[in-house]
Amino acid sequence: MLLGTVAGIALSLAPSGASAADCPGHPNALGTSRVLVVDPREHPRIGAMQYKETLPLKDHEVVITFDDGPLPKYSNQVLQILADQCVKATFFTIGRQAKADPEGVRKLAAAGHTIGTHSQNHPLSFNKMTLDQVKPEVDEGISWTTAALTDPSALSPFFRVPGLLRGDAVESYAATLGLQLWSADFLADDWRSISGTKVHELAIKRLEARGKGILLLHDIHARTVAALPKILAELKAKNYRIVHVVAATPDRPATPTDPEDWLVHRPSDETPVAKWPAITPADLAGADTRARAELDDFGILDVPPATPAVRKPAWPRPSLGSRLATAPSLPAPSAELFAWPPVAPLSAPHRQVARAESSAPKASASKASASKVSASKAVAAKPAQRPVRLASLRKR
Ligand SMILES: [Zn+2]
Repeated sequence: MLLGTVAGIALSLAPSGASAADCPGHPNALGTSRVLVVDPREHPRIGAMQYKETLPLKDHEVVITFDDGPLPKYSNQVLQILADQCVKATFFTIGRQAKADPEGVRKLAAAGHTIGTHSQNHPLSFNKMTLDQVKPEVDEGISWTTAALTDPSALSPFFRVPGLLRGDAVESYAATLGLQLWSADFLADDWRSISGTKVHELAIKRLEARGKGILLLHDIHARTVAALPKILAELKAKNYRIVHVVAATPDRPATPTDPEDWLVHRPSDETPVAKWPAITPADLAGADTRARAELDDFGILDVPPATPAVRKPAWPRPSLGSRLATAPSLPAPSAELFAWPPVAPLSAPHRQVARAESSAPKASASKASASKVSASKAVAAKPAQRPVRLASLRKR
């Protein structure tokens, strides 16, 4: 038994799958760098596009997936391209396609790829389906794919929702079956009417933005067949490594990982999680844990009792009119105070300034470019009897 355990560990740690060095006839192949064994029940939903968790890949590691096959015309070409590079991928088959081309499913298994399912008829309505509608779509997809296989255990408990249209019903049903729901980390838009060159460009661009991840492609399009060799060649040139994902079995334990390895957004030591962890009422049953912290929990803060200080509202303020109504009245200033020249005799210095300005050359006050100084002179040069603002007087 001990020997068996040791052998199991050795199997999981050994660099399995084909590496570039042992891809017969293809010395420069991309190869498959390692096998990642995952336990669907520990991580039931993966894919950064939709879920909090994704595969625990290291930087520059890529998992390639294909949906919607098998369709002989294109799936066979995809299989040949992958074989030439000794790359292992994951295929999500449609039950109806497996029923029509069971040989195509057997080819996937014979080539050593991972096989998951993608519903029976690919309805783009899983987000609205009830449990009763979800069940036959999931079950029949599994049944027809299994029926096509010589060895039913070649089917992995992996499922991808058509159109990635996730819903509560499909997620809960998949969980009851022990299926791992695969979303994706990035797409290459190969279902759209674009060129193979564009598919290649998008795949690489989006991979480089993330640095690693699960790529979703479709083995039913000519553009994907055209793009795939270029994608693999560029992965090789840029030192990306292919990871082959398989499901854990009693004989094949999951690859050891840390829980945070699966998180799409890993908390860092520099930015600690600031939120109090969310706890559901179910978690609280029989536990001495509370749902949320109270201020009293932070005794060092010595929080004063919550009696808000009485503060006057900043707005509206009492109006000026109402205050003036109750204020003692002031004598109105005489109009003579604002006349120029002033009626009252000026002091000696003021008289000198007034004389100098009245004899200065006339300046045009209408010049838009006049400076403050020239504007001031222009005011002084105006007809002597014109009233001048009090502010102008004070400037002098
Ligand atoms: Zn699909």
